[in-house]
Amino acid sequence: MSAPNIETIVSLAKRRGFVFPSSEIYGGLGSAWDYGPFGVELCNNVKQAWWRWMVYERDDMEGVDSSIILNRLAWKYSGHEDTFSDPLVDCRDCNSRFRADKLDYLPTEEERELPAPEAIAKAIRERRIKCPNCGSKDLTEPRPFNLMFRTHVGAAAEDDPSSLVYLRPETAQGIFINFANVLTTSRRKLPFGVAQIGKSFRNEVTPGNFIFRTREFEQMEMEYFVRPGEDEKIHQDWIDNCFNWFTGLGISANNLRLYEQPKEELAHYAKRTVDIQYRFFPEREEQDRQWDELMGIANRTDFDLRTHSKKPEDAEGKRLNPDSTEDLSYFDEATKERFYPYVIEPAAGVNRTVLSVLMDAYSEKTNDKGETRVILKLHPTLSPIKAAILPLAKNKPEIVGMAKAIKRSLQPLLRAVYDDTGGIGKLYARQDEIGTPFCVTVDHQSLEDEAVTVRDRDTWEQERVKVSELPEHLSTRLKG
Ligand code: ATP
Repeated sequence: MSAPNIETIVSLAKRRGFVFPSSEIYGGLGSAWDYGPFGVELCNNVKQAWWRWMVYERDDMEGVDSSIILNRLAWKYSGHEDTFSDPLVDCRDCNSRFRADKLDYLPTEEERELPAPEAIAKAIRERRIKCPNCGSKDLTEPRPFNLMFRTHVGAAAEDDPSSLVYLRPETAQGIFINFANVLTTSRRKLPFGVAQIGKSFRNEVTPGNFIFRTREFEQMEMEYFVRPGEDEKIHQDWIDNCFNWFTGLGISANNLRLYEQPKEELAHYAKRTVDIQYRFFPEREEQDRQWDELMGIANRTDFDLRTHSKKPEDAEGKRLNPDSTEDLSYFDEATKERFYPYVIEPAAGVNRTVLSVLMDAYSEKTNDKGETRVILKLHPTLSPIKAAILPLAKNKPEIVGMAKAIKRSLQPLLRAVYDDTGGIGKLYARQDEIGTPFCVTVDHQSLEDEAVTVRDRDTWEQERVKVSELPEHLSTRLKG
Protein backbone atom coordinates (compact mmCIF):
# COMPACT_ATOMS: atom_id res chain seq x y z
CA MET A 1 0.00 0.00 0.00
CA SER A 2 1.27 3.49 -0.78
CA ALA A 3 2.02 5.74 2.19
CA PRO A 4 -1.00 7.65 3.50
CA ASN A 5 -0.96 11.42 3.19
CA ILE A 6 -1.62 13.74 6.10
CA GLU A 7 -5.29 14.19 5.07
CA THR A 8 -5.94 10.45 5.60
CA ILE A 9 -4.49 10.75 9.09
CA VAL A 10 -6.49 13.92 9.87
CA SER A 11 -9.69 12.09 9.07
CA LEU A 12 -8.79 8.96 11.05
CA ALA A 13 -7.58 11.10 13.96
CA LYS A 14 -10.86 12.97 14.16
CA ARG A 15 -13.12 9.96 13.54
CA ARG A 16 -11.45 7.85 16.21
CA GLY A 17 -10.75 10.48 18.86
CA PHE A 18 -7.04 11.08 18.54
CA VAL A 19 -7.01 14.76 17.53
CA PHE A 20 -9.81 17.32 17.12
CA PRO A 21 -9.68 20.83 15.64
CA SER A 22 -9.44 23.12 18.66
CA SER A 23 -12.35 25.39 19.68
CA GLU A 24 -14.43 23.80 16.93
CA ILE A 25 -17.78 24.88 18.39
CA TYR A 26 -16.63 28.51 18.03
CA GLY A 27 -15.39 28.11 14.49
CA GLY A 28 -11.96 26.84 15.42
CA LEU A 29 -8.66 28.65 15.95
CA GLY A 30 -6.32 28.47 12.97
CA SER A 31 -3.98 25.50 13.22
CA ALA A 32 -4.71 24.70 16.87
CA TRP A 33 -5.57 21.11 17.76
CA ASP A 34 -6.85 19.30 20.84
CA TYR A 35 -5.82 15.76 21.72
CA GLY A 36 -8.74 13.44 22.46
CA PRO A 37 -8.95 10.24 24.53
CA PHE A 38 -6.57 8.17 22.38
CA GLY A 39 -4.41 11.13 21.34
CA VAL A 40 -3.52 12.02 24.91
CA GLU A 41 -2.52 8.39 25.56
CA LEU A 42 -0.39 8.31 22.41
CA CYS A 43 1.35 11.60 23.33
CA ASN A 44 1.97 10.35 26.87
CA ASN A 45 3.38 7.09 25.55
CA VAL A 46 5.75 8.92 23.17
CA LYS A 47 6.95 11.13 26.04
CA GLN A 48 7.36 8.18 28.40
CA ALA A 49 9.28 6.18 25.78
CA TRP A 50 11.59 9.16 25.20
CA TRP A 51 12.13 9.79 28.93
CA ARG A 52 12.80 6.10 29.62
CA TRP A 53 15.31 5.92 26.77
CA MET A 54 16.90 9.31 27.42
CA VAL A 55 16.97 9.39 31.23
CA TYR A 56 16.29 6.02 32.91
CA GLU A 57 18.31 3.81 30.60
CA ARG A 58 21.46 5.95 30.86
CA ASP A 59 23.89 6.69 33.68
CA ASP A 60 24.74 10.23 32.62
CA MET A 61 21.39 12.02 32.58
CA GLU A 62 19.24 14.24 34.83
CA GLY A 63 15.83 15.76 34.18
CA VAL A 64 14.32 19.18 34.86
CA ASP A 65 10.99 20.93 34.38
CA SER A 66 11.58 24.67 34.07
CA SER A 67 9.04 27.51 33.84
CA ILE A 68 7.36 28.43 30.57
CA ILE A 69 7.71 32.12 31.44
CA LEU A 70 11.31 33.02 32.28
CA ASN A 71 12.93 36.31 33.19
CA ARG A 72 13.02 38.33 29.98
CA LEU A 73 16.79 38.65 30.29
CA ALA A 74 17.12 34.93 29.52
CA TRP A 75 15.77 35.66 26.03
CA LYS A 76 17.85 38.77 25.66
CA TYR A 77 21.13 36.96 26.29
CA SER A 78 20.13 33.77 24.46
CA GLY A 79 19.78 35.94 21.34
CA HIS A 80 16.08 35.24 20.84
CA GLU A 81 14.97 38.86 21.25
CA ASP A 82 17.21 39.90 18.38
CA THR A 83 17.36 36.92 16.11
CA PHE A 84 14.46 34.51 16.67
CA SER A 85 12.57 35.62 13.63
CA ASP A 86 11.37 34.37 10.28
CA PRO A 87 11.55 36.39 7.06
CA LEU A 88 8.03 37.63 6.36
CA VAL A 89 6.63 38.52 2.93
CA ASP A 90 3.28 40.26 2.25
CA CYS A 91 1.23 40.01 -0.90
CA ARG A 92 0.18 43.55 -1.81
CA ASP A 93 -2.86 42.27 -3.69
CA CYS A 94 -4.54 39.79 -1.34
CA ASN A 95 -2.76 40.84 1.91
CA SER A 96 -1.72 37.25 2.71
CA ARG A 97 1.51 36.76 4.63
CA PHE A 98 4.07 34.04 4.06
CA ARG A 99 7.38 32.82 5.35
CA ALA A 100 9.74 33.81 2.57
CA ASP A 101 11.91 30.72 3.04
CA LYS A 102 8.88 28.47 2.50
CA LEU A 103 7.76 30.07 -0.77
CA ASP A 104 7.61 27.60 -3.61
CA TYR A 105 10.59 28.58 -5.73
CA LEU A 106 13.86 27.06 -6.87
CA PRO A 107 16.93 29.27 -6.43
CA THR A 108 19.00 29.96 -9.55
CA GLU A 109 22.69 29.08 -9.53
CA GLU A 110 23.60 32.65 -8.74
CA GLU A 111 21.07 32.81 -5.87
CA ARG A 112 22.41 29.58 -4.45
CA GLU A 113 25.69 31.37 -3.74
CA LEU A 114 23.98 33.95 -1.50
CA PRO A 115 22.88 33.63 2.15
CA ALA A 116 19.25 32.41 2.18
CA PRO A 117 17.52 35.75 3.08
CA GLU A 118 19.39 37.63 0.37
CA ALA A 119 18.70 34.92 -2.18
CA ILE A 120 14.96 35.14 -1.52
CA ALA A 121 14.96 38.95 -1.59
CA LYS A 122 16.74 38.87 -4.97
CA ALA A 123 14.34 36.28 -6.36
CA ILE A 124 11.29 38.30 -5.27
CA ARG A 125 12.76 41.51 -6.69
CA GLU A 126 14.12 40.26 -9.98
CA ARG A 127 12.18 37.14 -10.86
CA ARG A 128 8.83 38.20 -9.50
CA ILE A 129 7.97 35.10 -7.48
CA LYS A 130 4.22 34.44 -7.30
CA CYS A 131 1.95 34.72 -4.27
CA PRO A 132 0.96 31.12 -3.36
CA ASN A 133 -2.53 32.37 -2.48
CA CYS A 134 -3.62 34.56 -5.42
CA GLY A 135 -0.80 34.29 -7.95
CA SER A 136 0.02 38.00 -7.85
CA LYS A 137 3.64 38.96 -8.45
CA ASP A 138 3.43 42.01 -6.21
CA LEU A 139 5.18 40.78 -3.06
CA THR A 140 7.02 42.90 -0.49
CA GLU A 141 10.68 42.23 0.30
CA PRO A 142 11.18 39.91 3.30
CA ARG A 143 11.45 41.52 6.72
CA PRO A 144 12.15 39.84 10.08
CA PHE A 145 9.16 38.89 12.24
CA ASN A 146 9.93 37.81 15.82
CA LEU A 147 8.20 34.54 16.64
CA MET A 148 8.01 34.90 20.41
CA PHE A 149 4.57 35.40 21.96
CA ARG A 150 4.53 38.41 24.25
CA THR A 151 2.52 38.83 27.40
CA HIS A 152 2.71 40.82 30.65
CA VAL A 153 3.17 39.64 34.21
CA GLY A 154 1.39 41.10 37.16
CA ALA A 155 -1.02 43.99 37.32
CA ALA A 156 1.35 46.46 35.64
CA ALA A 157 0.00 48.38 32.68
CA GLU A 158 0.47 46.61 29.35
CA ASP A 159 2.61 49.45 28.06
CA ASP A 160 5.02 49.17 31.00
CA PRO A 161 8.09 47.57 29.42
CA SER A 162 9.25 46.15 32.75
CA SER A 163 6.26 43.76 32.78
CA LEU A 164 6.97 42.35 29.31
CA VAL A 165 7.68 38.60 29.19
CA TYR A 166 7.61 35.89 26.53
CA LEU A 167 6.17 32.40 26.37
CA ARG A 168 9.22 30.21 25.79
CA PRO A 169 9.87 29.31 22.14
CA GLU A 170 12.07 26.36 23.17
CA THR A 171 12.69 24.43 26.37
CA ALA A 172 16.50 24.54 26.03
CA GLN A 173 17.10 27.90 27.74
CA GLY A 174 15.41 26.64 30.92
CA ILE A 175 18.12 23.98 31.04
CA PHE A 176 21.06 26.35 30.46
CA ILE A 177 20.02 28.82 33.14
CA ASN A 178 19.80 25.90 35.60
CA PHE A 179 23.20 24.46 34.65
CA ALA A 180 24.92 25.47 37.89
CA ASN A 181 21.96 24.31 40.02
CA VAL A 182 21.91 20.86 38.44
CA LEU A 183 25.70 20.55 38.48
CA THR A 184 25.99 21.36 42.19
CA THR A 185 23.06 19.27 43.35
CA SER A 186 23.79 16.21 41.22
CA ARG A 187 27.60 16.34 41.57
CA ARG A 188 27.92 15.33 37.93
CA LYS A 189 31.16 15.22 35.95
CA LEU A 190 31.39 15.82 32.20
CA PRO A 191 30.03 14.45 30.02
CA PHE A 192 26.45 14.49 31.25
CA GLY A 193 23.07 15.62 30.00
CA VAL A 194 19.92 17.34 31.20
CA ALA A 195 16.58 16.44 29.61
CA GLN A 196 13.29 18.29 29.57
CA ILE A 197 9.86 17.78 28.02
CA GLY A 198 7.38 20.61 27.79
CA LYS A 199 5.29 23.06 25.83
CA SER A 200 6.84 25.71 23.61
CA PHE A 201 5.18 28.54 21.73
CA ARG A 202 6.05 30.18 18.42
CA ASN A 203 3.90 32.68 16.60
CA GLU A 204 4.49 30.86 13.31
CA VAL A 205 3.71 32.91 10.20
CA THR A 206 2.34 29.98 8.28
CA PRO A 207 1.35 27.14 10.59
CA GLY A 208 -0.34 24.19 8.98
CA ASN A 209 -0.21 20.62 7.78
CA PHE A 210 -2.23 19.41 10.77
CA ILE A 211 -0.06 18.96 13.88
CA PHE A 212 3.18 19.33 11.88
CA ARG A 213 3.44 23.07 12.50
CA THR A 214 1.36 24.71 15.21
CA ARG A 215 1.84 27.77 17.38
CA GLU A 216 1.65 25.78 20.60
CA PHE A 217 3.53 22.48 20.62
CA GLU A 218 5.53 20.20 22.83
CA GLN A 219 9.26 19.53 22.70
CA MET A 220 11.55 16.81 24.03
CA GLU A 221 14.99 18.37 24.36
CA MET A 222 18.25 17.29 25.92
CA GLU A 223 21.41 19.31 26.41
CA TYR A 224 24.51 17.15 26.64
CA PHE A 225 27.52 18.94 28.16
CA VAL A 226 30.94 17.84 26.93
CA ARG A 227 34.57 18.96 26.94
CA PRO A 228 35.46 21.10 23.94
CA GLY A 229 37.37 18.80 21.61
CA GLU A 230 35.16 15.82 22.41
CA ASP A 231 32.12 17.51 20.87
CA GLU A 232 32.41 16.26 17.28
CA LYS A 233 32.54 12.55 18.07
CA ILE A 234 29.81 12.76 20.73
CA HIS A 235 27.64 14.77 18.33
CA GLN A 236 27.94 12.01 15.73
CA ASP A 237 27.09 9.35 18.35
CA TRP A 238 23.90 11.23 19.28
CA ILE A 239 22.88 11.50 15.62
CA ASP A 240 23.16 7.70 15.27
CA ASN A 241 21.48 7.10 18.63
CA CYS A 242 18.50 9.30 17.81
CA PHE A 243 18.01 7.76 14.37
CA ASN A 244 17.92 4.33 16.04
CA TRP A 245 15.42 5.55 18.61
CA PHE A 246 12.92 6.38 15.88
CA THR A 247 13.39 3.04 14.10
CA GLY A 248 13.07 1.34 17.50
CA LEU A 249 9.63 2.96 17.79
CA GLY A 250 8.68 1.07 14.65
CA ILE A 251 9.18 3.88 12.11
CA SER A 252 10.49 2.47 8.85
CA ALA A 253 14.07 3.54 8.06
CA ASN A 254 12.90 4.09 4.46
CA ASN A 255 10.78 7.00 5.68
CA LEU A 256 13.60 8.60 7.68
CA ARG A 257 16.70 10.38 6.45
CA LEU A 258 19.52 12.51 7.79
CA TYR A 259 19.84 16.04 6.49
CA GLU A 260 23.10 17.88 6.99
CA GLN A 261 22.30 21.60 7.35
CA PRO A 262 24.42 23.59 4.92
CA LYS A 263 26.44 26.50 6.34
CA GLU A 264 23.96 29.16 5.22
CA GLU A 265 21.13 27.41 7.13
CA LEU A 266 23.01 26.96 10.42
CA ALA A 267 21.86 28.95 13.46
CA HIS A 268 24.42 31.59 14.47
CA TYR A 269 25.59 29.53 17.48
CA ALA A 270 25.80 26.15 15.74
CA LYS A 271 28.99 24.44 14.59
CA ARG A 272 27.11 21.63 12.88
CA THR A 273 23.44 20.56 12.80
CA VAL A 274 21.97 17.40 11.38
CA ASP A 275 18.20 16.99 11.14
CA ILE A 276 16.36 13.71 11.18
CA GLN A 277 13.66 14.14 8.58
CA TYR A 278 10.53 12.08 8.01
CA ARG A 279 8.69 11.66 4.71
CA PHE A 280 5.71 13.74 5.89
CA PHE A 281 4.58 14.66 2.35
CA PRO A 282 4.77 11.51 0.18
CA GLU A 283 2.23 12.97 -2.26
CA ARG A 284 4.56 15.78 -3.38
CA GLU A 285 6.03 15.20 -6.80
CA GLU A 286 9.46 16.59 -6.16
CA GLN A 287 11.39 14.02 -4.06
CA ASP A 288 13.20 16.58 -1.96
CA ARG A 289 10.00 18.33 -0.85
CA GLN A 290 8.54 15.12 0.57
CA TRP A 291 10.80 15.36 3.62
CA ASP A 292 10.73 17.68 6.60
CA GLU A 293 12.24 17.94 10.07
CA LEU A 294 11.27 15.60 12.88
CA MET A 295 14.26 16.28 15.12
CA GLY A 296 17.32 18.53 15.01
CA ILE A 297 20.64 17.51 16.53
CA ALA A 298 22.86 20.56 16.97
CA ASN A 299 26.35 21.20 18.22
CA ARG A 300 25.65 24.52 20.00
CA THR A 301 29.30 24.98 21.04
CA ASP A 302 29.80 26.89 24.32
CA PHE A 303 27.57 29.73 23.15
CA ASP A 304 24.76 29.27 25.66
CA LEU A 305 26.73 28.79 28.86
CA ARG A 306 29.02 31.68 27.95
CA THR A 307 26.26 34.06 27.01
CA HIS A 308 24.36 33.50 30.27
CA SER A 309 27.52 33.87 32.37
CA LYS A 310 28.43 36.73 34.61
CA LYS A 311 32.01 36.73 33.30
CA PRO A 312 32.03 35.81 29.67
CA GLU A 313 35.53 35.38 28.33
CA ASP A 314 34.96 36.95 24.98
CA ALA A 315 38.13 38.61 23.72
CA GLU A 316 36.18 41.38 21.99
CA GLY A 317 33.89 41.81 24.98
CA LYS A 318 30.96 41.37 22.63
CA ARG A 319 28.81 39.12 24.78
CA LEU A 320 29.45 40.91 28.03
CA ASN A 321 26.64 40.07 30.42
CA PRO A 322 26.23 42.55 33.30
CA ASP A 323 22.86 41.07 34.33
CA SER A 324 23.72 37.47 35.24
CA THR A 325 24.81 36.66 38.79
CA GLU A 326 26.46 33.33 37.95
CA ASP A 327 29.47 32.11 36.04
CA LEU A 328 28.37 28.95 34.22
CA SER A 329 31.86 27.62 33.56
CA TYR A 330 32.93 24.15 34.68
CA PHE A 331 35.92 23.27 36.84
CA ASP A 332 37.61 19.99 36.11
CA GLU A 333 39.04 18.66 39.40
CA ALA A 334 41.34 16.20 37.68
CA THR A 335 43.06 18.62 35.31
CA LYS A 336 42.44 21.78 37.39
CA GLU A 337 41.09 23.48 34.26
CA ARG A 338 38.14 25.85 34.09
CA PHE A 339 36.21 26.13 30.84
CA TYR A 340 32.75 26.44 29.26
CA PRO A 341 31.44 23.03 28.18
CA TYR A 342 30.23 22.51 24.62
CA VAL A 343 26.63 21.40 24.19
CA ILE A 344 25.13 18.74 21.94
CA GLU A 345 21.36 19.15 21.64
CA PRO A 346 18.92 16.58 20.27
CA ALA A 347 15.58 18.43 20.01
CA ALA A 348 12.43 16.66 18.87
CA GLY A 349 8.77 17.58 18.71
CA VAL A 350 6.23 15.39 20.52
CA ASN A 351 3.56 16.32 17.98
CA ARG A 352 5.69 15.64 14.90
CA THR A 353 6.70 12.31 16.43
CA VAL A 354 3.02 11.49 16.97
CA LEU A 355 2.27 12.44 13.35
CA SER A 356 5.12 10.33 12.01
CA VAL A 357 4.18 7.24 14.02
CA LEU A 358 0.54 7.58 12.94
CA MET A 359 1.52 7.90 9.27
CA ASP A 360 3.97 5.03 9.50
CA ALA A 361 1.57 2.72 11.33
CA TYR A 362 -1.36 3.30 8.97
CA SER A 363 -2.26 0.26 6.89
CA GLU A 364 -5.31 -1.26 5.25
CA LYS A 365 -6.33 -4.91 5.08
CA THR A 366 -9.23 -6.64 3.35
CA ASN A 367 -11.19 -9.23 5.34
CA ASP A 368 -12.79 -12.40 3.91
CA LYS A 369 -16.02 -10.49 3.22
CA GLY A 370 -14.08 -8.17 0.94
CA GLU A 371 -14.35 -5.22 3.35
CA THR A 372 -11.34 -2.94 3.76
CA ARG A 373 -10.27 -2.31 7.32
CA VAL A 374 -7.83 0.25 8.67
CA ILE A 375 -5.19 -1.21 10.96
CA LEU A 376 -2.92 1.06 12.92
CA LYS A 377 0.19 -1.03 13.38
CA LEU A 378 1.60 1.06 16.22
CA HIS A 379 4.53 -0.22 18.23
CA PRO A 380 2.79 -1.78 21.29
CA THR A 381 4.71 0.60 23.60
CA LEU A 382 2.90 3.48 21.91
CA SER A 383 -0.58 1.95 21.52
CA PRO A 384 -3.13 3.96 23.53
CA ILE A 385 -4.86 0.74 24.64
CA LYS A 386 -2.86 -2.45 25.11
CA ALA A 387 -5.74 -4.91 25.53
CA ALA A 388 -9.49 -4.70 24.92
CA ILE A 389 -11.62 -7.20 26.83
CA LEU A 390 -14.71 -8.09 24.82
CA PRO A 391 -17.61 -10.31 25.97
CA LEU A 392 -19.09 -12.43 23.18
CA ALA A 393 -22.58 -12.29 24.70
CA LYS A 394 -23.40 -9.09 26.54
CA ASN A 395 -26.73 -10.43 27.76
CA LYS A 396 -25.12 -13.20 29.74
CA PRO A 397 -24.23 -11.83 33.23
CA GLU A 398 -21.61 -14.56 33.91
CA ILE A 399 -19.72 -13.70 30.71
CA VAL A 400 -19.93 -9.94 31.34
CA GLY A 401 -18.86 -10.46 34.97
CA MET A 402 -15.89 -12.56 33.94
CA ALA A 403 -14.80 -10.04 31.25
CA LYS A 404 -15.00 -7.12 33.70
CA ALA A 405 -13.03 -9.08 36.31
CA ILE A 406 -10.32 -9.77 33.71
CA LYS A 407 -10.14 -6.06 32.86
CA ARG A 408 -9.73 -5.20 36.55
CA SER A 409 -7.03 -7.83 37.04
CA LEU A 410 -5.03 -6.41 34.11
CA GLN A 411 -5.33 -2.72 34.91
CA PRO A 412 -2.43 -2.43 37.41
CA LEU A 413 -0.20 -3.89 34.69
CA LEU A 414 -1.31 -2.26 31.47
CA ARG A 415 -3.97 -0.04 29.92
CA ALA A 416 -6.97 -2.32 29.36
CA VAL A 417 -10.56 -1.45 28.44
CA TYR A 418 -13.86 -3.32 28.52
CA ASP A 419 -16.20 -2.85 25.56
CA ASP A 420 -19.57 -4.45 24.80
CA THR A 421 -21.09 -1.75 22.58
CA GLY A 422 -21.31 -3.76 19.36
CA GLY A 423 -21.01 -7.13 17.64
CA ILE A 424 -17.62 -8.78 17.85
CA GLY A 425 -16.65 -7.94 14.24
CA LYS A 426 -17.30 -4.26 14.85
CA LEU A 427 -15.45 -4.31 18.17
CA TYR A 428 -12.39 -5.90 16.57
CA ALA A 429 -12.44 -3.34 13.73
CA ARG A 430 -12.59 -0.45 16.19
CA GLN A 431 -9.61 -1.72 18.15
CA ASP A 432 -7.62 -2.34 14.94
CA GLU A 433 -8.22 1.26 13.91
CA ILE A 434 -6.80 2.68 17.14
CA GLY A 435 -3.87 0.27 17.17
CA THR A 436 -4.77 -1.99 20.12
CA PRO A 437 -2.35 -4.93 19.82
CA PHE A 438 -4.58 -7.48 21.60
CA CYS A 439 -8.29 -8.22 21.86
CA VAL A 440 -9.28 -10.68 24.56
CA THR A 441 -12.64 -12.38 23.96
CA VAL A 442 -14.66 -14.04 26.71
CA ASP A 443 -17.17 -16.64 25.39
CA HIS A 444 -19.45 -19.40 26.71
CA GLN A 445 -16.62 -21.88 26.81
CA SER A 446 -14.57 -19.50 28.99
CA LEU A 447 -17.00 -20.19 31.83
CA GLU A 448 -16.10 -23.89 31.63
CA ASP A 449 -12.38 -23.93 30.81
CA GLU A 450 -11.25 -20.63 32.44
CA ALA A 451 -9.60 -19.65 29.15
CA VAL A 452 -10.05 -16.76 26.70
CA THR A 453 -9.23 -16.04 23.06
CA VAL A 454 -6.41 -13.60 22.41
CA ARG A 455 -6.53 -12.04 18.93
CA ASP A 456 -3.48 -10.43 17.38
CA ARG A 457 -4.05 -7.05 15.66
CA ASP A 458 -1.55 -7.54 12.85
CA THR A 459 -2.14 -11.16 11.87
CA TRP A 460 -5.74 -11.58 13.11
CA GLU A 461 -4.61 -14.93 14.46
CA GLN A 462 -6.32 -16.23 17.58
CA GLU A 463 -4.90 -18.18 20.46
CA ARG A 464 -6.56 -19.78 23.49
CA VAL A 465 -4.94 -18.67 26.76
CA LYS A 466 -5.70 -19.63 30.38
CA VAL A 467 -7.05 -16.66 32.36
CA SER A 468 -4.47 -17.34 35.09
CA GLU A 469 -1.68 -17.02 32.50
CA LEU A 470 -3.09 -13.96 30.72
CA PRO A 471 -1.12 -11.17 32.52
CA GLU A 472 2.18 -12.96 31.91
CA HIS A 473 1.19 -13.85 28.32
CA LEU A 474 0.29 -10.24 27.41
CA SER A 475 3.29 -8.69 29.19
CA THR A 476 5.69 -10.97 27.33
CA ARG A 477 4.12 -10.27 23.96
CA LEU A 478 3.95 -6.52 24.60
CA LYS A 479 7.68 -6.48 25.25
CA GLY A 480 8.07 -8.15 21.86
P1 ATP B 1 11.19 24.30 11.43
O1 ATP B 1 12.42 24.55 10.58
O2 ATP B 1 10.31 23.19 10.93
O3 ATP B 1 10.46 25.55 11.80
P2 ATP B 1 12.97 24.36 13.66
O4 ATP B 1 14.27 23.97 13.01
O5 ATP B 1 12.72 25.79 13.95
O6 ATP B 1 11.75 23.72 12.82
P3 ATP B 1 13.78 23.47 16.23
O7 ATP B 1 13.94 24.83 16.79
O8 ATP B 1 15.01 22.70 15.88
O9 ATP B 1 12.79 23.50 14.98
O10 ATP B 1 12.86 22.65 17.23
C1 ATP B 1 13.05 21.27 17.51
C2 ATP B 1 11.84 20.45 17.15
O11 ATP B 1 10.64 21.03 17.67
C3 ATP B 1 11.58 20.33 15.64
O12 ATP B 1 12.37 19.31 15.08
C4 ATP B 1 10.11 19.97 15.61
O13 ATP B 1 9.92 18.59 15.81
C5 ATP B 1 9.55 20.73 16.80
N1 ATP B 1 8.91 21.97 16.34
C6 ATP B 1 9.50 23.16 16.10
N2 ATP B 1 8.59 24.07 15.71
C7 ATP B 1 7.39 23.45 15.72
C8 ATP B 1 6.04 23.86 15.43
N3 ATP B 1 5.78 25.11 15.10
N4 ATP B 1 5.06 22.95 15.54
C9 ATP B 1 5.32 21.68 15.90
N5 ATP B 1 6.57 21.23 16.20
C10 ATP B 1 7.58 22.10 16.12
